[in-house]
Amino acid sequence: MTAGDPRALEYPGDLLRFADDLTAAERAKLTLLRAHLDRHVAPILVDAWESAQTPAHIRAPLAELRLVDDPSVIDGSGRCRAIYEGFRTLELARTDLAVSILYGGQVGMFRTVVREGGSPEQVAAWDDDIVAFRMTGCFALTEPDHGSDIARGIATAARRTESGWVLNGHKRWIGNATISDNLLVVAREEGADRVLAFVVPSASAGISMTVIEHKAALRAVHNADIRLVDVEVAEERRLARIESFDDINRAFRTLRPDIVWNSAGMQLGAYEAAIEYASVRQQFGRPIAGFQLVQDKLVRMVANIAQTLALAVRTTTHPVADDVSPSMLKLIAADRLRESVALAREIVGGNGLLLPHRVIRFFADAEAVYTFEGTREMNTLIVGRALTGLSAFTR
Ligand SMILES: Cc1cc2nc3c(=O)[nH]c(=O)nc-3n(C[C@H](O)[C@H](O)[C@H](O)COP(=O)(O)OP(=O)(O)OC[C@H]3O[C@@H](n4cnc5c(N)ncnc54)[C@H](O)[C@@H]3O)c2cc1C
Repeated sequence: MTAGDPRALEYPGDLLRFADDLTAAERAKLTLLRAHLDRHVAPILVDAWESAQTPAHIRAPLAELRLVDDPSVIDGSGRCRAIYEGFRTLELARTDLAVSILYGGQVGMFRTVVREGGSPEQVAAWDDDIVAFRMTGCFALTEPDHGSDIARGIATAARRTESGWVLNGHKRWIGNATISDNLLVVAREEGADRVLAFVVPSASAGISMTVIEHKAALRAVHNADIRLVDVEVAEERRLARIESFDDINRAFRTLRPDIVWNSAGMQLGAYEAAIEYASVRQQFGRPIAGFQLVQDKLVRMVANIAQTLALAVRTTTHPVADDVSPSMLKLIAADRLRESVALAREIVGGNGLLLPHRVIRFFADAEAVYTFEGTREMNTLIVGRALTGLSAFTR
């Protein structure tokens, strides 16, 4: 498949043809990405899943594709169109959520928090290296004793010293930490109530990490438990424009639709796997795709995909600068995803439990989406509070 191949960037589950909004240059770039993923990445995913090894080596070739900074897909200010960024995430997640996290945890999450939270000097010094994966990082917020209540419960402490800062604390579930040169650590300032963020070199004295084992979702991404004991960090490595949890939320705003694009990509991947299977698997002397109950599942999936993509495109092209609508996005994306991947799994029957048939990976990974970046329930509480003015977080 080449960039010029008109079949190259078809999305069979996208009946409303949202991908038609992409420019020719963007389609060409995404076509290259798909060809690369099909050829070099998809074939290694079953082994990566089974062995729970993280295929970090896929990141450098993805960086070489210049998906973020190729002149053909950026404007005068060096930014890509948001809709292209969305389809880039979708394309990665359509292959596997782990691929999207391995790439997007760097150029999406880490880069965005640095860009939105750093001073102009910090951004100028680091951004090119981040895009090229020469400076890698991950985002470390969650703690063992504080998941859903982290906004009010950050226990990791930052103490000011004459020469900089000293960090002490414990972070948990941190994706990509073991393959990152830097940890973006969120901590509370001792003796004050500021929430600060530090880009801490992973090799700093006082940092130790262990991979969380026996994980049944996103097995090809390592999540780490991280201990920080008297870790010294220079003031220049504190992100200058983050001083509160609201600043963290602000830095994340442009990233919020990402969860919807990941959900859409996973649903498209699961749908394609399911319909391919249903077209060839014969029972009662005919392809199972010809049975009404199977068609019902396929149609429900495509309807879910249409709803998810409509939400993704709308919120990407018309962003709402608040802290409530992202929560609504998250819970709709998680619900639609959970239903679609379960339907795909059902269609593939017993084979649906086998990793090479793809659907079980989407099924298991949907559970990670359901929980990370705030559980579906916590996001429901955020929307509920906004609607009623009454917080139901605590009794
Ligand atoms: C695969 C994966 C990757 C992750 N990657 C990262 C990462 O890179 N960086 C990072 O910082 N974090 C990461 N996380 C952490 C993630 O954000 C947390 O798991 C999440 O915020 C939930 O916290 P918890 O797991 O401690 O659950 P808890 O907060 O212990 O919640 C347990 C259950 O109780 C419910 N609950 C809690 N409070 C209430 C309430 N008031 N009312 C009703 N229900 C409630 C929750 O919804 C949930 O169902 C990751 C998690 C996973 C699973």
